[in-house]
This record gives sequence, structure tokens and C-alpha cells, in this order.
Amino acid sequence: MAAKFALNDGEAIVIIGSGAGGGTLANELAQKGVNKIVLLEAGRNFEEEEIENDEFGMFLKLSWLDKRQAVGAWSVARTGPNLPAWIVKGVGGSTMHWAGVSLRFKPYEFKIRTTYGAVPGANLLDWPISYEDLAPYYDRAVQKMGISGTPGGQPELPHNNLHKVASAAAKKFGYKDVIHPMAIQSVPSDGRPSCQQIGFCMQGCKVGAKWATNYTEIPKALATGRVDLRPQSMVLKIEHDREGKVSGVLYQDKDGKQHLQKARIVALAGNSIESPRLLLNSATSRFPQGLANSSGQVGRNYMGHTTAGLFSIYEKPINMHRGNAVAAIIADEARNDPSRGFFGGYYFEVLQMGLPFVAAFLRPPSGWGREMTTALEQYDRMAGVWVCGEQLPCEGNSITLHATEKDQYGLPIPVVSNSDHANDAMLRQHGRTQWQKMNEGFGSIRTVEQPTWSSTHNLGTNRMSEKPRDGVVNKWGQSHDIKNLFVSDGSQFTSSAAANPTLTIVSLAIRQAEYIVDQMKKGAI
Ligand SMILES: Cc1cc2nc3c(=O)[nH]c(=O)nc-3n(C[C@H](O)[C@H](O)[C@H](O)COP(=O)(O)OP(=O)(O)OC[C@H]3O[C@@H](n4cnc5c(N)ncnc54)[C@H](O)[C@@H]3O)c2cc1C
Ligand code: SF4
Repeated sequence: MAAKFALNDGEAIVIIGSGAGGGTLANELAQKGVNKIVLLEAGRNFEEEEIENDEFGMFLKLSWLDKRQAVGAWSVARTGPNLPAWIVKGVGGSTMHWAGVSLRFKPYEFKIRTTYGAVPGANLLDWPISYEDLAPYYDRAVQKMGISGTPGGQPELPHNNLHKVASAAAKKFGYKDVIHPMAIQSVPSDGRPSCQQIGFCMQGCKVGAKWATNYTEIPKALATGRVDLRPQSMVLKIEHDREGKVSGVLYQDKDGKQHLQKARIVALAGNSIESPRLLLNSATSRFPQGLANSSGQVGRNYMGHTTAGLFSIYEKPINMHRGNAVAAIIADEARNDPSRGFFGGYYFEVLQMGLPFVAAFLRPPSGWGREMTTALEQYDRMAGVWVCGEQLPCEGNSITLHATEKDQYGLPIPVVSNSDHANDAMLRQHGRTQWQKMNEGFGSIRTVEQPTWSSTHNLGTNRMSEKPRDGVVNKWGQSHDIKNLFVSDGSQFTSSAAANPTLTIVSLAIRQAEYIVDQMKKGAI
């Protein structure tokens, strides 16, 4: 299909990646009247009939399976050495796969250096913005995304059996804060239906009750006539002019042809592995360390959350698979209370998984055999949880370029290095112990654990900082070094917080769009 806007049009606003950050930014800019937005997406567009209620079928269809390498002390380096992250390659990005949990950061989580002090071995930094700065944008994101079960949003989704069991167990244990804020509609709105409780939220939600940019932001953006979506367009390099401003991007289409799209502004939203990788791959003689990298922080401080997947088995059926992917969230441990032995907090995200995923991921410490098969026999009696907690930023947890291995585009593959900080390990262990005690106190007879999955939350590799020497972008997501280059995805996070990231990514994109429009009007970019 011919490009809607000319390749040599230097007024184009180029957005790389169409997921939570990029898809939202495209729509926000288009709704504000910005014209000539070129949305480049490496993956293809999935039609509604391609969305199947099939865990492995959809994983294979949607996932970014280009070669990557996982290294470091985390277990994924052994269990998934070529799959450090579970990320989507397709129009809509990982919002196709996400479960919809929509939590705000807590105010202290924007200020971890001030709150926790200097933690040896970690690279803590305060965000250059506060909770109060982002609060109005959180409110707007709640409306935009049709979030249920949160103040100002839609009514909470119906409680399934897993919710009832987990909630009763939590209350018996003394927890009080059982919540369910989900970007899944409980009432029809915005031209989308309410949730049908089918349970395949992470397989693309066939009916569109779950917010995803391919169902919401992108169609709305295209309807303005101001956006040119180019699927199967993998950006290989960001180019700059003699003054050091970005001037365009080189990308490869589905037929293997390369094109140079000129640009007035480039916004990078390829998720926290591809975004720094592209900056590093765009090195030139003027920017030998890569673009936007005078601080040397591009690719550093990778955070994926501190997690554990546990399944508690009861004597009677629960049938956790009936209803949403995430049935409830227990929020009592999401606080900074160093008396527990670690900084930061975590959520219990009460989670169902279909039998195929439970069977594939469940490898008890003893390996295959009776321990595994007896657990699988009890699938209908399982209550699952994902402990999701803060991971401290550490410089050594990073995205770097492989010295020799190349991908199908001829680019060095990304190497994702990740290891627990001692704080992360203590937080994880606390989560495991509390979950087990809570369920045993409610009649659970056994708890089994899955090894850590490939990372679904990927954050922090182009972080925001007040001072250029500490990070990559300023409080607007704008490169400290190159003023017409923006980062619009989770890689701009300065801390991971305990909360799942997407609501914050969307709120930042809404805020960033306002800034870009303002700066364009002033002729500053
Ligand atoms: C199974 C699963 C469950 C999840 N559940 C939750 C949840 O409940 N709550 C929550 O908050 N978060 C959840 N997440 C995480 C959430 O999906 C991500 O945080 C969010 O989508 C990240 O947004 P992003 O804009 O940073 O990147 P993405 O949404 O991943 O978008 C990046 C896009 O950029 C494209 N791209 C990358 N490089 C290039 C390039 N060079 N050229 C062109 N295009 C490129 C990719 O193909 C992709 O489409 C989940 C994720 C998964 C996988
Ligand atoms: S349970 Fe609701 S959100 Fe999940 S796939 Fe079904 S309709 Fe979509």
C-alpha cells in the first residue's frame, strides 16, 4: 500500500511502535490536530477472526520471537535463554496480550532515592515528576481505557469463584485491601461490549472488552485522517542531521525493502528492549555511544518487576479458569515497610492460567515426575497468584548489543542481563511465604511454584532524570541530548514501583502529547 504521507516529508512525526505508549501517543496527537503522523510497527495487523481462545496458538502468533539472549543470575537465563521477555510484535503491541491490571504508582514510588536512601548495589534515582504531576493524567487514562473497579471508573467486574476464595482467604489472614481495577469494561461503552467472562484476556480478548490500542487508540487515530499506520515496518536506525537533531528513520518493509522516512520529531515506543537497542544501533561518528547516550545510561537499569508464580491447591474445586485472567488483587503488602527486611512492596495478583500454560510452566524443583503429575491432576482445585513487586534499578541489569550474533535484519541481537538485587530476593521470598501461609490458613493442602516466566513488564532502560548525567530523558520523555527525540514507552521509568506499568505508560503518553503540541506551536521542536 502506498504511504499516505511522503517519505521525504520532513514535517512527519514518526512514532516507532504501536503498543501502550506509541498507540496512545499517536491518537492523542491526532485528536489535537497534529497532522502527518507516521506510525511504524514491526509486527502485522491481526484481524478479529485470527484471535483464538488458545493459549499456545496465540502466544506463537503474537509474540516477539526474533532472536534475543538472556544472561545473568535470573532463572530465565536457563529456562528461556532466547526468550528474556514475553512481548508482542503486532499492531497494538503488548496491549494485545496484557491482562488489564491497572494500578497507579504510590507517591513514594516516584521518590525512591529520597525514601529508601542510598542502597548499595542499586542505582536509585527519584523521578523528575511527582505523583501530583501525573494524577490528572491518571484520571484521564482511567476514562480513556474504560477501567472498572477503580475510583472514577466503571463498576467492578463480577466476582468469580477464584475471587471469592482468594478474598475470603485474605480476609481470614488479616488482609483488608482486596481490589480489582482492570482495563476491562464492566458495562458497554466507547463502542465496545462489556466483559463476557470468557477468560482468554491474555490471548487478545476476541470481543474487545479489554482495552488494547489496536481496538481503541489506533482506529480512532486513523479515523482522523492524520495518521499513516505502516505495519510490518521494522525500524533499523534513527538518523540525524549535521546539527545533531534527528532527521528520519530507516525501516524495512515486509518485502525486505528499505525506506528512509524523513521526520520533524521521532518518538520511540518499541518497549524497553527494542527502544534502547535502536538507540545503540543508531551510533554514528558524532554519537559513538549511540543516540541520546551522553550519560552512558541507555540500556542500563533494566527492571522487570520482582515476581513469583504460585498455585495453591485446595481439596474442593475452584475452577480458576472461569472468568477474567486476573480475578482479584490483594494490595496489603504494597507499601514501603523496611521492618519486613526490604524496601518497596508487592501485590498479590490472583491469577488463573489455562491447563496448557500451567502444564508447560510448572516444573517443580524435583523436575518431571510424580510431583508434577499429581499437581496437574489437581488443576481444577488450584488458586493461582502472581506476586508482582518492585525491582530495584541496578546499572548492571541491562540491554547491550551482542558482539557477533545478528538477527534477520542484520542487526546485533539484544542481550538482556538481569540478576536479583538482595532486596529483590527478600521481597520475593516474603511474597511466597505470605501467600502460602494465607492459603494454608484457609484450607489449602499444597502450594506449587512455577519458575519465573520471561519478563512481561520491561522497564527503565532509557530512564527519566532531572540531571542529564543520571538518565536519558527529561520529565517529558524528551532526550536530554536531542530535543526532537522522545521516548514514549516503559523504558522511561525511573523506578518500577510495585504496580503493573501500563496505566502509567498511558498516562505519561497523554501528558507527553500535550507537551509536544505545545513545543510544536512555539516552534521549539
Ligand atoms: C502476558 C502479558 C500480560 C500483561 N499484563 C499486564 C497487566 O495486567 N497490567 C499491566 O499494566 N501490564 C501488563 N503487561 C505489560 C504491558 O503489556 C506492557 O507494559 C505495555 O504494553 C508496554 O507498552 P510499551 O508501549 O512500552 O510497549 P509495547 O506495548 O510492547 O509496544 C511496543 C511495540 O513496538 C514495536 N516495535 C519494537 N521495536 C520496533 C522497531 N524497531 N520498529 C518498529 N516497531 C517496533 C513492537 O512490535 C510492539 O508492537 C502484560 C504483558 C504481557 C505480555
Ligand atoms: S474475560 Fe472479558 S476481557 Fe477477558 S477475554 Fe473474555 S471478554 Fe475479554
